[in-house]
Amino acid sequence: MADTHELIRNDFPRGDFRAVLFDFDGTLSLFREGWPRLMTDMMVDFLREAGCVEPNDSLSLRVENFIMELNGRPAIFQMMRLAEEITALGKTPLPAESYLREYDRRLLAMTADRTAEVERQPEKAAVWAVPGTHDFLEELKRRGLKLYLASGTERHFMQPEADLLRVSGFFEEIHAPTAGDRSFSKRAVIDRILTTHSLQGHQLISFGDGVIETGETRKAGGVAVAVASDEGGNGTINQWKRIRLAEAGADWVIPDYTGQKTWLPELLGS
Ligand SMILES: [Mg+2]
Repeated sequence: MADTHELIRNDFPRGDFRAVLFDFDGTLSLFREGWPRLMTDMMVDFLREAGCVEPNDSLSLRVENFIMELNGRPAIFQMMRLAEEITALGKTPLPAESYLREYDRRLLAMTADRTAEVERQPEKAAVWAVPGTHDFLEELKRRGLKLYLASGTERHFMQPEADLLRVSGFFEEIHAPTAGDRSFSKRAVIDRILTTHSLQGHQLISFGDGVIETGETRKAGGVAVAVASDEGGNGTINQWKRIRLAEAGADWVIPDYTGQKTWLPELLGS
């Protein structure tokens, strides 16, 4: 049976929400669905080349853990972590940028078919969006909320994908790092949105599938809704994601946006 939502903390102040911040990959877009597996496999390949003898299962798990801990920051940070792991094996790593280029190459090979499908058939946009995305964004706008997008994915990749999915137009602002920018952080984006629009933390709600945006929203005093979609597309909450996001401070957990009519009035208090 499909899950609608799970409440972890529900005693936050309501009635004064103004801004809603969205992550992109995994939260709105499924173009890059499967990226953690792809990144893990690539890193395991490089670690094996560097002489790592750790058994496959434990190595994959360990690599996936540090990848997900850094999910929300630009991918170069995950590549810097790979370089550290290779150094720890007594080998000289390549520059982190080289690993990033290889990752982008593999990722592009995976996403090219998906984006091409929507380029040919624009009506397929909904297929590659998290279920219920378009109706949900529409409803938030209708309620007068201001929507912001913050993605750790480099802008030259992310913006065309957001355009293809036909979600760009919903957002007041789209924040994403330019190529090679290591200074981007969700923390800085949240601070900037609050300051620029004279908002307080409790007026912010975020939707994200990463531990970083979840934790930073809570630190800023906002309400963090975790999107823990199950990749099988059966509308249930993915327990593995749920556990991490709950640990990071998620207030609510949803599998996607299809149940919004049930839970949105409760979330907003109106
Ligand atoms: Mg994400």
